[in-house]
Amino acid sequence: MNKDLKDRTQEELEKLVVGLRQKKYLAGYLFKFIHAQDGREVAALSTLRKAFREQLVEQGYFISQLKTVDTRTDSDGSAKYLFELADGERIETVLLPEEDRRTLCVSTQVGCPMGCVFCATGRIQFRRNLTAGEIADQVNRVAEQAGRITNLVYMGMGEPLLNYDAVLKSIRILNHSAGKNIGIRHITISTSGIAPAIERLAEEEIRPRLAISLSAPTDALRSKLMPVTNKYPLAGLLEAVRKYQARTGQRVTFEYVLIDQVNDSVTHARLLVKLLRGLMYNVNLIEHNPFSGCEFTGSSRPRIQRFAATLKDAGVETTIRFRMGRRIKAACGQLQAGYHPRAQKKPL
Ligand code: SAH
Ligand code: SF4
Repeated sequence: MNKDLKDRTQEELEKLVVGLRQKKYLAGYLFKFIHAQDGREVAALSTLRKAFREQLVEQGYFISQLKTVDTRTDSDGSAKYLFELADGERIETVLLPEEDRRTLCVSTQVGCPMGCVFCATGRIQFRRNLTAGEIADQVNRVAEQAGRITNLVYMGMGEPLLNYDAVLKSIRILNHSAGKNIGIRHITISTSGIAPAIERLAEEEIRPRLAISLSAPTDALRSKLMPVTNKYPLAGLLEAVRKYQARTGQRVTFEYVLIDQVNDSVTHARLLVKLLRGLMYNVNLIEHNPFSGCEFTGSSRPRIQRFAATLKDAGVETTIRFRMGRRIKAACGQLQAGYHPRAQKKPL
């Protein structure tokens, strides 16, 4: 394990402290200092004896911190943060303030290996997974500048379920009552559909909400938009969701990016209803957000309304998602952290 103390749950800190022949309860001071008080230097943790602090520092333990390189604010109130990691890689995080909540959209990877053709992050080279400490610190850094975060969505750069252990660990850290204390029902993981990981998630004792990005009702169309379909076709993916619901009793959200003339007809909407029959779910419709080099356009308002009405008429709870942050390229699918996109893919 690396020596970043921010990358540890309270239980892991307890193991470390006991291993250093100190009293277990001291781990609670460390955890609170790092996650509730946003402490930077072990040496400044005055509730620990000086000799113990020195022991930690001598053995190479430290508290990592993301460097804020740039902050942009949209006139709709949303803000995008560009962070640099210790090895110089960069990620973006988005704050979406609404009346009664302040949602942070966190990244889980530098780039994304999934290659969805409608997504800016999918167009850049995948570099690496983030650690739990790097995921958790996105919350610390934004909270420092903008105040308390009430909701978390794992919908920034990357595929959360391909970085399963770090993502779950970051949730344990951020949900902990001695740390940021973000309610588990206020945390959502969004996945492009890694079926075995969904089944694994069903077995966890900690249960964030689950959103699945679908964006097409058939394998033929979905595999063109989201190559993950070739590995996990819709039947297997939805079977995993069925098992997840049987185990957890939780409703899931399906996300559907509406792309003009590609996946946004009434027929597509009807096929979607048929496909999802028997599941407990709601649908979030997201108008496709533009980025440079992308050949797609977002669906027109009338087409979005018609698609939504078809779902609603079939009894599906449907929400059309806002487009917050578009002007600062902070909306869904626009995050690139300044990395250069790969060559453009063939149009459909
Ligand atoms: N990798 C995860 C989470 C990050 S993407 C996932 O795919 O679910 C977050 C959401 O943004 C997904 O629902 C995705 O389908 C959507 N998205 C990607 N590119 C988009 C774009 N250009 N416009 C609108 N939504 C987009
Ligand atoms: Fe990755 Fe999600 Fe973008 Fe697909 S939509 S490339 S899974 S970030």
